[in-house]
Amino acid sequence: MQSKISRRAVIKGGLIAGALVPAMGLIGNTAGAAALTPLDPNDPMAKAVKYAPDGSKVNAAANPTFKPTQKCANCAQYQGKAGDASAGCNIFAGHSVPAGGWCNVWAQKPGG
Ligand code: SF4
Repeated sequence: MQSKISRRAVIKGGLIAGALVPAMGLIGNTAGAAALTPLDPNDPMAKAVKYAPDGSKVNAAANPTFKPTQKCANCAQYQGKAGDASAGCNIFAGHSVPAGGWCNVWAQKPGG
């Protein structure tokens, strides 16, 4: 008898855990940047603006407007706060860009 109850309890517990895991995923996704997909450097629009997820690897000779101080984190289009590892970009709806990324439409964030 006891073993029947515990088996039922285990099954019930498993069902609850199974239901909670996807629900927790949804909660995580509503927390902002998690709903965004990282911008693919091979995306045609990303390529058009010479997007680089790592600004330290930008070829300065091929990108005359580039300066090492220019990063997504201090760009006017960046939607993140100081200290965010990545955030949305106004140019690339639905995608996130790393704080250290760069593209050739970079413009100084006001006050930054
Ligand atoms: S527009 Fe600014 S924030 Fe967006 S990818 Fe280019 S440099 Fe980064």
